Amino acid sequence: MTEPVEPIIRAQAVEKFYTQPDGNRIEVIAPVDLDIEPGKIITLLGPSGCGKSTLLRILTGLSQPSSGQVLWHDRPIASQTAGVAIVFQSFALFPWLTVLDNVEAPLEARGVAALERHKRALRILDTVGLDGFESAYPKELSGGMKQRVGFARALVVEPEVLFMDEPFSALDVLTAENLRNELMELWLSKKMPTSAIFIVTHNIEEAVLLADRVIVLGRNPARVRADFPVELEQPRDRKSLHFVELVDYIYKIMTQPELFLAAPVTGATTQKPVRQKYQMLPHARVGGIAGLLELLQDRGGKEYLHRLSEVLIMDAEDLLPIIEAAVLLGFATLKEGDLQITPEGARFAEADILTRKTLFRQAALNHVVILQQIDSILHAKADRSISEEFFYDILDEHFSQDEVERQFDTAMNWGRYAEIFDFDREAHRLVLAEPVGEPHPPTKTPVQS
Ligand code: ADP
Repeated sequence: MTEPVEPIIRAQAVEKFYTQPDGNRIEVIAPVDLDIEPGKIITLLGPSGCGKSTLLRILTGLSQPSSGQVLWHDRPIASQTAGVAIVFQSFALFPWLTVLDNVEAPLEARGVAALERHKRALRILDTVGLDGFESAYPKELSGGMKQRVGFARALVVEPEVLFMDEPFSALDVLTAENLRNELMELWLSKKMPTSAIFIVTHNIEEAVLLADRVIVLGRNPARVRADFPVELEQPRDRKSLHFVELVDYIYKIMTQPELFLAAPVTGATTQKPVRQKYQMLPHARVGGIAGLLELLQDRGGKEYLHRLSEVLIMDAEDLLPIIEAAVLLGFATLKEGDLQITPEGARFAEADILTRKTLFRQAALNHVVILQQIDSILHAKADRSISEEFFYDILDEHFSQDEVERQFDTAMNWGRYAEIFDFDREAHRLVLAEPVGEPHPPTKTPVQS
């Protein structure tokens, strides 16, 4: 029998709340248990805004959980200097320092003597392919070279766990691919002075390319929806059957927030999903939803999610909210990783502009809680108008301030297109709109999902 591996970092029931200016507490992360073991690359996936960066900061000891604790080799992480370093999406270099000085900076902060830090910085710059760029300034470097400096600066402290927050997201496709390959080469040849890597990403293929273990977070609040090993040989072939199956499986999890799925391999999550408290609108514009439905209809009404993302050249972060919106509105259904258009969706895809508005209005009033509530109140009010504050009052009970803004923006886009209301920008009021065709009776009982 093999000995269980001791984790380097162990998060126990970590939970995070943010307090709103009005005193309301929003739960961003539900209690999460998570171990980071040596010898592995772990990728953390999840929809935008779900709490990935917040969880990363908690795991590094940079930010305190509201409850629960993070242990570093069995002792509270906050009470000691943990061996971690972070690579950021934005590179976060000091523009006034040379490449060499940027890489030496964390050693200087740790009190390493000048000669020693110089030697270590030169060695790591050589490892990441920056030999010859020591005296350059960040502004003289391309994005890919800047991120190499980001890697060098993180690795120079020889972190036991290297954390990366969307490290390839700010780079063009080819540069990102090249840097990912170089990272894997360093990791597999054990030239990196680090024993585990934890990468936050929204890119599903990137997660499957790099990871020994994938964790998928759900949102509102964040909780672990799936946690499974990836046992494919490196280097991985994106076209291999198992690779495509894993990508499809992750799409399935991320598009069906209410569904509990067993992993296709061992190591599935033990945490059960809990229903959302209040319906959260996916951030998709009507134009995007219409485009998706037209494409789906053109392709015979049914297509694999993975294939749709290839045809549309969109990554999951951009595509998933549009798919989620089409499903929420009853224009499409998801089955076994296929998106299937419904009869309503097909009618919408084939309709002229005015009919589309009517169909969208029916769908919105049937399925979208916040629009049902607004429609109902506008009909009940004598002056047929309400302040936008009404929106905020409902939403800020459930979402963080940024999310309330995004929910407002999406509901405005849908509600105005569907001619449920107009928005008087100067008065900050929503006003009942006269819809195309017959007047519409108010919806009486809003249904929560
Ligand atoms: P992700 O990395 O998955 O995109 P984040 O961890 O950045 O998500 O944010 C998760 C949620 O927490 C978001 O809704 C964001 O608005 C909220 N949030 C993050 N930081 C703060 C903060 N300091 N105060 C209030 N809300 C915050």
